[in-house]
Amino acid sequence: MLAVSNIEELVRRSNLLGSDRTIANQGGGNTSMKGLTIDHAGREVSVVWVKASGADLASITEPGFPALGLDDLRLLLERDEMSDQEMLEYIRSCALDSNAPRPSIETLLHAFLPATHIDHTHPDAVIALTAIPSGRELAEGVFGDEALWIPWKRPGFALAKDIAVAIAEQPAVRAVLLEKHGLITWGETSDEAYSSTLEFAKRAADALSEVSAGDVILGGEAVSPVSEEVANALLAVALPALRGAVLADRQGVVLEVDRSDEARVFASSRRGPDVSQIGSPCPDHLINTKHKPLAIEFDPYREDAEGLARKLRNGVEGYSAWYREYYERNMTDESREFAIDPAGPRVVVIPGVGIVTCGSDAGQARFSCDLYRRAIAVESAADAAGGFSSLTEQEAFEIEYWPLERYKLAQAPPGGELAGKIALVTGGASGIGRAAARRLAELGAHVAVADVNVEAAAAVADEIVVAHGLRRAVHVPVDVRDEHAVEAMVRQTVLEWGGIDIVVCSAGIATAAPVTETSMADWNRNHEILARGYFLVAREVFRVMQRQGQGGSVIFIGSKNALVGGANASAYSSAKAAGLHLARVLADEGGPFGIRVNTVNPDAVIEGSGIWSSDWKATRAVAYEVSEDDLPAFYRERSVLKVKVYAEDVAEAIAFLAGPRSQKSTGNIINVDGGVSAAYPR
Ligand SMILES: [Zn+2]
Repeated sequence: MLAVSNIEELVRRSNLLGSDRTIANQGGGNTSMKGLTIDHAGREVSVVWVKASGADLASITEPGFPALGLDDLRLLLERDEMSDQEMLEYIRSCALDSNAPRPSIETLLHAFLPATHIDHTHPDAVIALTAIPSGRELAEGVFGDEALWIPWKRPGFALAKDIAVAIAEQPAVRAVLLEKHGLITWGETSDEAYSSTLEFAKRAADALSEVSAGDVILGGEAVSPVSEEVANALLAVALPALRGAVLADRQGVVLEVDRSDEARVFASSRRGPDVSQIGSPCPDHLINTKHKPLAIEFDPYREDAEGLARKLRNGVEGYSAWYREYYERNMTDESREFAIDPAGPRVVVIPGVGIVTCGSDAGQARFSCDLYRRAIAVESAADAAGGFSSLTEQEAFEIEYWPLERYKLAQAPPGGELAGKIALVTGGASGIGRAAARRLAELGAHVAVADVNVEAAAAVADEIVVAHGLRRAVHVPVDVRDEHAVEAMVRQTVLEWGGIDIVVCSAGIATAAPVTETSMADWNRNHEILARGYFLVAREVFRVMQRQGQGGSVIFIGSKNALVGGANASAYSSAKAAGLHLARVLADEGGPFGIRVNTVNPDAVIEGSGIWSSDWKATRAVAYEVSEDDLPAFYRERSVLKVKVYAEDVAEAIAFLAGPRSQKSTGNIINVDGGVSAAYPR
């Protein structure tokens, strides 16, 4: 019987390590186990299972650990040097399964050290300890010859070999402290490795608190953090300005506001904003936070929201200029093949308010936010224990534009044509609005599903989150007739993601009656929802889009009835015609700001529509002298193409008008009605 090792304990330990973000960053750190397995020819072979590059320890499962032939990897110990490219190719050819994910860039470290179980993590306390001037001395005092101190070096063959050689010379060593980087521990059993990681992180934390006893965090408050209400009032105006500035050299961006205690204390402290400019505390953060954040000077008690917006715009401009110079200044032969990232900041520090992060989508913005919380913890601890120091600019750049780190970025699936865009859909809980919300999300947009039916809107938003991921949709209650409710809806969307690029006005009703029997109530309801409602939403969104300064797309859902009179539907048809004309007027007004306003005219979209489940269906049937059941067939036969029109067909026209494919179209009408001759636009 051939022996086969079980890697369940490796998976369990990895998940445990990942569950504590003060020990292991999201997506960072790596673990391994050595043992026996059976190869393709049925032979027993020694392997090392190493975490795949970019996988997250917290959620990793067995397939996340490719098995690599250990004997072949260890042959490399005899070499003196090796380029990254050679190393990668060599490691790849050691994989037992050529379809397995690419192993961690720190694989050789795991292969070269003799222990069965190895953890490499980035605990806050260890990074802080190795980032202060007296760190090495302090570590020697606390750990003696139990820990080895390795000066900063970019991971790869040379670092792995240095560590292997040093450990062989110091038999009592139980852990490795990597300067400005992290920790390596090991054990013969999984539990031993795990306990050792926790032990060294705790001893490092204790050593730090001993030397920093009594000091106020980051010099204490420079400005008191403002209340939630004040912060929201500032951010509702300032975020679109920030987002617009960051959008200057990219297609889409999503913001996240961090108002946690840590973020507010750091941003509002005397030294936090300055310390933030020293640099990133961990190589693992760099591609998601950049070397340093944008830290602006701001006093929320003396300056207003417009002042904050101005400072953020100027701040992004200055930051982007710095980043372009940083790229040029530090360029090396190996980084030349990588184009510069968008130059704006990934993290913004606002005194009194908190931290704002920017990502290509909500998940990326959250990732940067989580990593920056770690940066705050490390920088605060190091500052208190004698002063934080970071990788130098050149060292940081060599990680940020390292081909092996760039590989992690390339792993992200390509975004759709609306990636990083923010859309607001009124009437999003059913019918055309719901189909539009789903379609825009499929194309990459983040969607606020607004509706008077809050529960149904929540169901649509939840469905989008399940399909597309964290923070990709929210639901917002709104009665579009109510000026304040519309303002609150737009504000909530802005506070969620930082701005708005696309709005679909789909909230609607319909009533029918001969004019002699049309009540004031019905007349008003149609005009309040369809005409005033479209006006209120467009007005508020125009304000945000103008502040953002990056154009936008406004889409009105009209009706065939906006172009030709519907039988016995004077209130509805005239309100729809008002909406259609409003779109033309707004197209002219929006033009100078790059805001496009277009109309989609559907007809007879019966399935899934809230309108058609009301009296409208019955009265239409009476008006056309057919039974309710025959109504779909009636509409189909009435159309030129003899087709039924679905909400999804209308959503396709909306998606076209929302995105770059229609970037030179405004003031247009697209009919999605199967062809109704009388309603051909002219
Ligand atoms: Zn590392």
